[in-house]
Amino acid sequence: MASSARPLALRAACSLRAPRCLRSTAAARQEQPGEPARPPPPPDPERGSAHGGTGPRGTRRVQPPPPAVDFGDPREAFRSKSSAELVRALVVLRLCALEPLVARSRQLMNLSRKLLGQQRFEKLMKMTFYGQFVAGEDQEAIKPLIQRNRAFGVGSVLDYSVEEDLTPEEAERKEMDEACVKGAEIDGPGAAQREKQYLAHREFGDRRDRVISARTYFYADETKCDQHMDTFLRCIEASGGSSEDSFSAIKLTALGRPQFLLQFSEVLMKWRKFFHQMAAEQGKAGLAVMETKLEVKKLQETLANLGIATKAESQHWFTGEDLGVSGTVDLLDWNSLIDSRTKLSKLLLIPNMKTGQLEPLLSHFTEEEDLQMKRMLQRMDVLATRALELGVRLMVDAEQTYFQPAISRLTLEMQRKFNMEKAVVFNTFQCYLKEAYDNVTMDVELSRREGWHFGAKLVRGAYMEQEQARAAQVGYEDPLNPTYEKTNEMYQRCLDYVLEEIKYSQKIKVMVASHNEDTVTFTIRRMAELGIHPSEKKVYFGQLLGMCDQITFPLGQAGYPVYKYVPYGPVNEVLPYLSRRALENRGFMKRAKRERDLLWSEFKRRLITGSLFCNPSH
Ligand SMILES: Cc1cc2nc3c(=O)[nH]c(=O)nc-3n(C[C@H](O)[C@H](O)[C@H](O)COP(=O)(O)OP(=O)(O)OC[C@H]3O[C@@H](n4cnc5c(N)ncnc54)[C@H](O)[C@@H]3O)c2cc1C
Repeated sequence: MASSARPLALRAACSLRAPRCLRSTAAARQEQPGEPARPPPPPDPERGSAHGGTGPRGTRRVQPPPPAVDFGDPREAFRSKSSAELVRALVVLRLCALEPLVARSRQLMNLSRKLLGQQRFEKLMKMTFYGQFVAGEDQEAIKPLIQRNRAFGVGSVLDYSVEEDLTPEEAERKEMDEACVKGAEIDGPGAAQREKQYLAHREFGDRRDRVISARTYFYADETKCDQHMDTFLRCIEASGGSSEDSFSAIKLTALGRPQFLLQFSEVLMKWRKFFHQMAAEQGKAGLAVMETKLEVKKLQETLANLGIATKAESQHWFTGEDLGVSGTVDLLDWNSLIDSRTKLSKLLLIPNMKTGQLEPLLSHFTEEEDLQMKRMLQRMDVLATRALELGVRLMVDAEQTYFQPAISRLTLEMQRKFNMEKAVVFNTFQCYLKEAYDNVTMDVELSRREGWHFGAKLVRGAYMEQEQARAAQVGYEDPLNPTYEKTNEMYQRCLDYVLEEIKYSQKIKVMVASHNEDTVTFTIRRMAELGIHPSEKKVYFGQLLGMCDQITFPLGQAGYPVYKYVPYGPVNEVLPYLSRRALENRGFMKRAKRERDLLWSEFKRRLITGSLFCNPSH
């Protein structure tokens, strides 16, 4: 490696955040102002339903006992529904369970439109699938539903759900020609250095393929991204107007060119790998991520031996105020050397352990690409600023693993800026990922060190089939847990960790976004054991509109903060999303069967008691 290239290495990045960079873990253990002191012993699991919450200064507050919730009571579950809505739910969920119908849902919808004409088709959709899963066409139309849900203790996460109706070929062309591939990258010298996982692959160009319940955006140009931002802004404004304490969901792939997300993700993952390689050199392989600490002296020696920087050069990289005490660097310190606000094209050179060569973490960005990245960050800034003004929380959805490191990192940057007083920006953690626990613990730890509020949604993950197929076909390690049981274990581990943290902190909030009754029951039990009362509003629950009302409404009526993800948008533009939603229901037959049984019981009860025509009451 030519030594003239060295000045570009780490130093460029380090200068960005010098004051905050490289604070020791010892410092992290110190309490942040406003945080209650952490008592040393772990919570006593034997306490059963502890009725004490934590007061603002760590004092124990006497709470009423946690409310009981019954997920098997059809009357409670569907109290908010008219009988016509019960019938609609019964019919729609039944149809969603019919394999041949669901498999051809797109064609059937198109055929019905032709036969019925646009108007009658829209009416039919509103009476059936659209009416079940979508709140309405625009901000005004969705208000009655939002208000009704609120009256039953259920909040809303507004999610403008239009999707371009592209054929697979169109989607693939857009992805490969416009969004994810740099001309120079296909044959250029940089191509060999790129990780396969973070390159676009034509056979996976249609990112909607095998994805359930998640909207997908395809990049066209910067104007289109501005339009998406305007749409999200309107959604935030509608959330602000609809109720207090509401959320608005956004997807970062809508706000910029995915090429940037791919490349930035690759940088972040290579950087993390490099840290673990250094750890292995120091005999610390296999430790839990927050336990892995590199000794600065040894690290400097290694960097010098590898030819990355002389000891003198690297001296000032590791001079954080607290390092004198601990003399170690952990992954958070290490990560803080990369700053998304830097000119990424000036980023680091690190050794390729296979070839022994120093290679740039990133192939160079052109001026135009640098601009695209800045515009994406600006759009995010505009959205978070507006959300803060209107008292709306911004939920950043998680997406595919090859985008997710960048999405998480950019979200984290927003949290640093906007979450100083309260949790405005929420990140999403997918527990089907092998690295989910590391991701959650690192972000919680970082928030504690830096004093901002941590807000997160925990999900299992929506891209499973696509991720598994891509890893197998392209040839890299499957990033997902190998079985459903392992994903459940991971979910429980992450959730348990966050709940324990919540017990001692006023600055952590989590949304348990799941339709799984066991997960919800587990959360309620752990909350009771840890003395986290629902009225503290630190733990939220989330389900999708039109699904699992038997979980959502009993939670809401018992006083647990619970939210529906509320998709909305014009009928035609929501249809592509809807047909994939039908596919989701097909996959969850068992649960839908329980829901249908409860719906049917409630319908029969109303019929027998002569209350079929009563209005929903609360
Ligand atoms: C309010 C809300 C918001 C959401 N937001 C997002 C989001 O931002 N990003 C996102 O990716 N998803 C999101 N989802 C979808 C979510 O990730 C799940 O796909 C969906 O909720 C089903 O999981 P479950 O916990 O509800 O049910 P379950 O039926 O208990 O779990 C099904 C899930 O388990 C996992 N799984 C199943 N089989 C296996 C296997 N063999 N190996 C490993 N894992 C397996 C998969 O993740 C699968 O989706 C959201 C869901 C909700 C309710």
